[in-house]
Amino acid sequence: MTAQWQANVSLKPFNTFGIDVKARHLVQAHDDADVLQALTAAAERGLDVLVLGGGSNLLLTQDVDGLVLHMASRGRRIVADDGEHVLVEAEAGEPWHPFVQWTLAQGLCGMENLSLIPGTVGAAPMQNIGAYGVEIKDVFAGLTALDRQTGAMREFNLQDCAFAYRASVFKANPGRWLILRVRFALKRTLDPHLGYGPVRQRLQEQGIEQPTAQAISEAICSIRREKLPDPEVLGNAGSFFKNPVVSSACADRIRAVYPDLVAYPQGEQGVKLAAGWLIERAGWKGYREGDAGVHRLQALVLVNYGQASGAQLHALAGKIQDDIRARFGVELEMEPNLC
Ligand SMILES: Cc1cc2nc3c(=O)[nH]c(=O)nc-3n(C[C@H](O)[C@H](O)[C@H](O)COP(=O)(O)OP(=O)(O)OC[C@H]3O[C@@H](n4cnc5c(N)ncnc54)[C@H](O)[C@@H]3O)c2cc1C
Repeated sequence: MTAQWQANVSLKPFNTFGIDVKARHLVQAHDDADVLQALTAAAERGLDVLVLGGGSNLLLTQDVDGLVLHMASRGRRIVADDGEHVLVEAEAGEPWHPFVQWTLAQGLCGMENLSLIPGTVGAAPMQNIGAYGVEIKDVFAGLTALDRQTGAMREFNLQDCAFAYRASVFKANPGRWLILRVRFALKRTLDPHLGYGPVRQRLQEQGIEQPTAQAISEAICSIRREKLPDPEVLGNAGSFFKNPVVSSACADRIRAVYPDLVAYPQGEQGVKLAAGWLIERAGWKGYREGDAGVHRLQALVLVNYGQASGAQLHALAGKIQDDIRARFGVELEMEPNLC
């Protein structure tokens, strides 16, 4: 059955900033056939296509004068299991956190630190999602994508994806690859990643010395609920800027003025600075312009108090970038995709 085309659809419920722009057309793709049909029809009609997952890493600054293809495919399965190593696969439209919870319920370990990240499985490789010391590259086994340039299906292995900090071959080539399903290599034995102080501390507070994957997931969920605004209550897209990597000389220069600079050495690549620290130190935390603002507790999170437009949030981001450049000589790069 051909997927239904809807016209003039508000995208407010489809993006976590809650920005009220319209899509000229919207199609819900439930399987590969829906995707192929929609892309063919869009090409015939000369329409640009925006692929949309959970809309949690997007800043929509204008109406989409083309087709929004919303990935609504579902399905998750164990593909191989040797008793210790387990290969699982999920369709692109599967919501990420329920998928993580499903792996934990199967007794599988590896995804626990990535709990409660919004969005879909298909978008996760886009920016190599990461949290609490783990990125999806650490559990990635492969994915199937459609090459929108050639119309051919292609399998990607770990090397093909060129994963890096909030980066991948998919992010570097916007719109080229449409990810259909992703595979993950998980284990039955836990290799805990507790390098982040707050997670260890939360577990200790609960008297847990030898945590299970489930306990780590629950600790991380509770920390995230405290730290990050819930998009259902206050529109946001999580961290709005990437943590910038600068030369050691640049970090030393800033530290000479601000001895409490938060910085993480990255070997030969330089030093990663905490973007949130820079923004907070520059006095932006809690700043508000109309309905666009910087969260009062998290300087790295821009928020929509209600009626902010994408353009207003983008303008605020630009002011912050200019100020950080002028004050610290550091370039901040936006994390959400601008549309
Ligand atoms: C409260 C909050 C907390 C967050 N915390 C984190 C965090 O800890 N770590 C982290 O890394 N991110 C975090 N994020 C960002 C976001 O959740 C992730 O980037 C997530 O993977 C985005 O998924 P999505 O389905 O919402 O993508 P969307 O926002 O729908 O799309 C993002 C980009 O991917 C493209 N895309 C979507 N689906 C596909 C597909 N199937 N194939 C090809 N391209 C596609 C879109 O065109 C767009 O360019 C957070 C966001 C919020 C709101």
